[in-house]
Amino acid sequence: MTAAIYSARGELKTLIVAGSPGGGQLLTTTDVENFPGFPEGVLGPQLIELFKKQALRFGAELVEENVSSINGSSEQGFVVKTETGNTFGAKSIILATGASAKWLGLDSEQKLRGKGVSACATCDGYFFKGKVVAVVGSGDAAMEESLYLTKFAPKVYVVARCKEGSLRASKIMAHRALVSPKIEFLYTTEVVEVIGENKVEGLKVINNISQESKILEDVEGLFVAIGHKPNTDFLLDFVELDAMGYIRVLDSTHTSKEGVFVAGDAADFKYRQAVSAAGYGCMAAMDAEKFLSQKEHLESPHTH
Ligand code: NDP
Repeated sequence: MTAAIYSARGELKTLIVAGSPGGGQLLTTTDVENFPGFPEGVLGPQLIELFKKQALRFGAELVEENVSSINGSSEQGFVVKTETGNTFGAKSIILATGASAKWLGLDSEQKLRGKGVSACATCDGYFFKGKVVAVVGSGDAAMEESLYLTKFAPKVYVVARCKEGSLRASKIMAHRALVSPKIEFLYTTEVVEVIGENKVEGLKVINNISQESKILEDVEGLFVAIGHKPNTDFLLDFVELDAMGYIRVLDSTHTSKEGVFVAGDAADFKYRQAVSAAGYGCMAAMDAEKFLSQKEHLESPHTH
């Protein structure tokens, strides 16, 4: 949306193919308290509406359809195909398809998303001041999230399905979490149910070796940190992706294909914030604008 605001305001004919429904991870978020400009906080879906309105104000057009493929080159032009069979032409493309958090897949987890179940401690940790929380996962993200949560929570359980000594996290990150007096590791343990109707009121876990189950009655928040998946499957034959599927960035926002730029979580596995994605969108639009004006300059007969 930020890329569209910049490119439309820069007098480029701008089409946002926003996916259906357009809005990404913010659509499934409730309060956003760390986006600058909203001292009282803002709801995720409301923030998306404001972004859209701002982009449309400068003449951007928006279609809410999922893209199935993108083909072409900067010489011949690009063709964007959607799942409903529509095609759109473009001289430059900004890829800002984001990433999706992986979830455990429990009904109780999905029911309580945004009501005590979250996939982002930086976003939601603040809401758990003085409350006991649990983090699922054993990679770097789980370590980082659990350490961050110790700022607010008196106690943080890390629920890891692996055995003690086999955390996937890097040694240094694991060590930091292991020595924290506020963090308790539960190994060979999996979450089977998030208890509660409108808020988290406990966690049912099972030991995957002994099959014994127990309820962690003090838990009021669950952070799922089992990885993210960039939304890039449809780009496999179009631009270079890394081993995890993130779009490879060559320089600033430039991808492996000339005239194609990237913004946000589709390339960024590190920060994953609304504001960092927005800043990245601004950069991509400026790079696209520069690319198009240089191309026009080269193609203009007056230069020969
Ligand atoms: P990872 O893929 O590294 O780890 C995911 C973890 O989730 C694994 O421990 C896996 O367990 C566990 N898991 C997956 N599915 C389930 C499930 N259904 N139930 C329970 N546990 C499950 O993802 P991360 O997001 O942690 O990290 C992604 C990348 O980002 C990594 O390269 C990481 O190094 C990097 N990163 C770096 C940070 C830093 O350096 N500060 C911070 C955050 C991320 P199992 O091992 O049993 O399969």
